[in-house]
Amino acid sequence: MNISISPFFIAIFEGMRNADYVIVGQGIAGTMLSWFLLQAGKKVIVIDDAKPNSASRVAAGIINPVSGRRFEPAWMYDTIYPFAKTTYEQLSALLQVPVFTERELWTVFPSMQMREAFLNKTNGNEYTQLPADLKYTAFLDQPYGAAIVRGATVNLRSLLPAYRRYLQDRDALVETHLDIARLEIRENGVIYGDISATKIIFCDGAGTIGLPFFKEIKFLPNKGEVLLVKIPGLETGDIIKKGITLVPQDNGLFWAGSSFVWDYEDDHPTLKQREILEKSLAQLLKVPYEIVDQLAAVRPSGNDRRPIAGFHPGLPPVGLFNGLGTKGCSLAPFMAAHFRDALVANAPLMQEIDLKRYFNTHRA
Ligand SMILES: Cc1cc2nc3c(=O)[nH]c(=O)nc-3n(C[C@H](O)[C@H](O)[C@H](O)COP(=O)(O)OP(=O)(O)OC[C@H]3O[C@@H](n4cnc5c(N)ncnc54)[C@H](O)[C@@H]3O)c2cc1C
Repeated sequence: MNISISPFFIAIFEGMRNADYVIVGQGIAGTMLSWFLLQAGKKVIVIDDAKPNSASRVAAGIINPVSGRRFEPAWMYDTIYPFAKTTYEQLSALLQVPVFTERELWTVFPSMQMREAFLNKTNGNEYTQLPADLKYTAFLDQPYGAAIVRGATVNLRSLLPAYRRYLQDRDALVETHLDIARLEIRENGVIYGDISATKIIFCDGAGTIGLPFFKEIKFLPNKGEVLLVKIPGLETGDIIKKGITLVPQDNGLFWAGSSFVWDYEDDHPTLKQREILEKSLAQLLKVPYEIVDQLAAVRPSGNDRRPIAGFHPGLPPVGLFNGLGTKGCSLAPFMAAHFRDALVANAPLMQEIDLKRYFNTHRA
C-alpha cells in the first residue's frame, strides 16, 4: 500500500519548520503576496537571496495612469490604483517608513504630433490636464509644451528593507538563494532543507525563466538601465518625463531611466545604454548634470503583458506570481490580494492572469 505522508506531519516528527506557504522572492510580488497571506492568518516563510539588481531594487516605483508611447489608459487603473494607495499607506503606517507619494508627472511633449496624440487620447481624462504656465523653463528644453499627469511613486528602497525587517522579527524570512535541485516536491506539499510547506509560490521575477516548471510560459523579459544623476539647482517633487524619466530621490539625486533592451547578454550596466540614456538627457536638459551611478535589471514580463498567477496544472503544490512587467508597483497589491482570495477562499482567478492560460487548461 502506498501511503502519502503530509509534509506537515513530517515536519512535526523531524523538528522541521512548517508553513502553509513558502514564498520565493521578496521583490514587490513576494512582499505583497506574503503580506496578504499573513493578513489572512496563514503561516508564511519567505526565502530571498537579496539580489542587489532585482527589478524591484532598481525600479523607480512610478505609478502612471497613462501607458506607453500611445498614451493608452493603464489596464484596470480605476480599480488597482485606489487599492494600491490604501495598501501602501497601511504598510507605511505599520512599518513607519515613507512608502507612497502622490506626484505630478510633468510630461514634456517631444513633438507636435505627440502633443496632439496625447490630447486626443486623454481628452476629458480625470488624471491629466494642460498647465496654465510652463514650469522648469530654465532647466528643460520643451518647445512643444508639457502636460500634467497625476500619478504616484512607491518608495521601494524604503518599503522592501522595512518589510524585510518585519518578516525577520516574525522569524518568517530565510535569507538564502533557493537551489531548485534541493527542492523536494511531493503530492501534498514541498520540503526544502528544514522547511516543509503545503505550497511553494515563486515570486522570483526573472529567476522564474530558469526554472524547470514553467517552460510553457512565454516570457518576454527585457532589461532596463538607469542612471542616478545630480542636477545642480533643480529641486522638485515632480516626475519629469520626455523619452527619459527623471524621478526625484530622497538623497537629492534623480533616477534617470530607463532603457528597454530585448536582446541582452547579462543583467549588468553597459556603456552602450549609458550613451543612449545620456543622449536622451541631452535632449531634455538645458543644464549640466553629473552621473553618480548606473544600474540595470531585468523586467519579468509575459508575452501578453498581464500578471501570471496560479498553480502548475501537473504539480499542484507549485505556484507562481509573476509577469508584473513595467507596472509592478500599481499591479502587485491588487493582484496579490486577488490571488490570496483564490488561495484562501477558493475565489475564481481572473482568466486574464491565470497561469493556466499558458497550459491551455482554463478553469470552466
Ligand atoms: C529599470 C527598471 C525600471 C522600472 N521602473 C518601474 C516603475 O517605475 N514602476 C513600476 O511599477 N515598475 C517598474 N519596473 C518594473 C518592476 O521593477 C517590476 O514589475 C517588479 O519589480 C517585479 O517584481 P517581482 O517581485 O516580480 O520581481 P523582482 O523584483 O525581480 O524580485 C524577485 C526577488 O526574488 C529573489 N530571488 C530570485 N531568485 C531567487 C532564488 N532562487 N532564491 C531566493 N530568492 C530569489 C530576488 O532577490 C528578488 O528579491 C521597472 C523595472 C526596471 C528593470
